[in-house]
Amino acid sequence: MRDTLKHSGLRNKLAKILLAKGISDAKVLDAIRAIPRHLFMDSSFEGHAYQDKAFPIAADQTISQPYTVAFQTQLLAVRPNDKILEIGTGSGYQTAILLQLKAKVYTIERQLELFKKTKIFFSKMGYRPKKTIFGDGYKGLPEEAPFQGIIVTAGAPEVPKALLSQLDIGGRLVIPVGSDNQIMTLFVRKSEKEFEKKEYGSFRFVPLLEDKN
Ligand code: SAH
Repeated sequence: MRDTLKHSGLRNKLAKILLAKGISDAKVLDAIRAIPRHLFMDSSFEGHAYQDKAFPIAADQTISQPYTVAFQTQLLAVRPNDKILEIGTGSGYQTAILLQLKAKVYTIERQLELFKKTKIFFSKMGYRPKKTIFGDGYKGLPEEAPFQGIIVTAGAPEVPKALLSQLDIGGRLVIPVGSDNQIMTLFVRKSEKEFEKKEYGSFRFVPLLEDKN
């Protein structure tokens, strides 16, 4: 599959839809216009890639809806060179959006099949996260902390303490919290011990699974 003018035209339309739905950060909309979402999906979905919908990827997981990706990215407020940790690499689409915003991205996936597939895809496409890791994101990545931003792309029944502790002062954790439905939640680290918490709308994610070992 290739990226063509037809695809970039569809991305422009998608960016307009996201703007109308309330995504106001111009850099986030530019990233949506830049990343060829159809290449992150099975070719059978190509015709649907620029609809504002989630789709199945491998291992019973989904590529998040573009609105959700844009909403989380906007909340993360990425600046160039920020160190960002992503939990739930999945298709790699969210990773590519973060790279487009010039972040240094560390991304973790717990499904081996997806991890392998997406890692190969990144190198084929020339996307360069700092690290693509196979493992349990519940624990974060202490050896690379602190992070200016942490984004969780699966629904967390509760907020993993490790992730809060790995935020830089001023750093932001964007995490959908809940079991059936999730409330998009932003934590901003104000000091060593203080966190400001804000809640946004309701979303639906595949579950963040903890490896109990
Ligand atoms: N950002 C992805 C979203 C994929 S869905 C995309 O846009 O394609 C969420 C992903 O989180 C799934 O791939 C799932 O396997 C992964 N996941 C769930 N629990 C996890 C955990 N504890 N650690 C790392 N990844 C996890």
